[in-house]
Amino acid sequence: STQIQLVQRPQGIPTEHDFHIQRVELSPLNEGEVRVRNEFISFDPYMRGRMNDSKSYIPPFPLGETMTGSAVGRVIESRAEGFSEGDLVTHFMGWRDIAQGSAEEFTAVPELGDKPVSAYLGVLGLTGMTAFAGLTKVAQMKDGDTVFVSGAAGAVGSIVGQIARHRGARAVIGSAGSAEKTALLTERYGFTHAINYKEAPILEQLAEVAPEGIDVYFDNVGGDHLEAALAHLNRYGRAALCGAISVYNAEDPLSLQGPRFMTNIVTRSLTLQGFVLQDYLQYADEFRAEIAPLVMDGTIKDDETVVEGLDQAIEAFLGLFEGKNTGKMVVRI
Ligand code: NDP
Repeated sequence: STQIQLVQRPQGIPTEHDFHIQRVELSPLNEGEVRVRNEFISFDPYMRGRMNDSKSYIPPFPLGETMTGSAVGRVIESRAEGFSEGDLVTHFMGWRDIAQGSAEEFTAVPELGDKPVSAYLGVLGLTGMTAFAGLTKVAQMKDGDTVFVSGAAGAVGSIVGQIARHRGARAVIGSAGSAEKTALLTERYGFTHAINYKEAPILEQLAEVAPEGIDVYFDNVGGDHLEAALAHLNRYGRAALCGAISVYNAEDPLSLQGPRFMTNIVTRSLTLQGFVLQDYLQYADEFRAEIAPLVMDGTIKDDETVVEGLDQAIEAFLGLFEGKNTGKMVVRI
């Protein structure tokens, strides 16, 4: 099997030297194990955090070992009851072409017909669930709210915007880093307003498109975007803090300055709630019941950026920090 290992902890933006591509001889299967050929592996910004040796909700990647992450593939050999060759499965042994292990590590999932099975890594998987839980449970979006989403052309953000429309938001404002992406936001994903944050300060642009303020902020970016949201959140506004990609590659996190407008949290009775999806998995059934049909009938559009081949995996991962993806970033094996 070809696998990608972390060999040193990146300082700032990761480079190719932080990783090593390793050939691993797989042992024959033991009773109760399955072997899977991965078809798609997921690349996610949170993986950057696992490359640091710091305390978090998920342990750091150990050095000299193959990294992990979400993947979808097909069983090519099985010595476990309930799995046979050809079965489609999801699991957490990404960053490699062949995965094998105990059957409990794999979840059999239904075929999707015309839809690429990579959807299990995106809108039908943890990505879609993050969007749903963050918007409806954490930020508790209500009918008639004005919603602002950063990272809006990304995997999570594009789904947040569409769920917000579906749930009756009055206006949905999205920010993204190029003109192509802002066009997609309004033309394809149904956002009412789109901001290209590279054109002018987000603080000013948000004031222009939301003269009456915002009620909900879904934060994927942190930094200047969080600051702009704090400046424009209305009384009793709610923010779901999902991620802060603008600071993930900071060389010295302690040197980062906090956002201005913090006193608005008091004077406007704001609620800012950070969350990680693992605390919201109890809503998986609700998510599937409400969102999966909208995905399957095309009401919710989910785009992907598909990079070909495991040898492009590191570049695909780094591309997340340069905005190279629209929608979910996956590598096809
Ligand atoms: P995305 O598909 O959104 O990919 C990352 C995007 O971030 C890029 O395409 C780029 O778009 C944008 N970006 C990169 N650098 C910057 C920057 N400096 N400032 C502004 N935008 C930037 O990834 P995901 O949808 O998978 O993840 C989105 C966020 O959600 C991340 O912060 C991630 O960590 C978080 N997350 C949190 C989870 C949780 O449980 N809390 C679960 C899943 C994700 P552009 O071209 O617009 O700049």
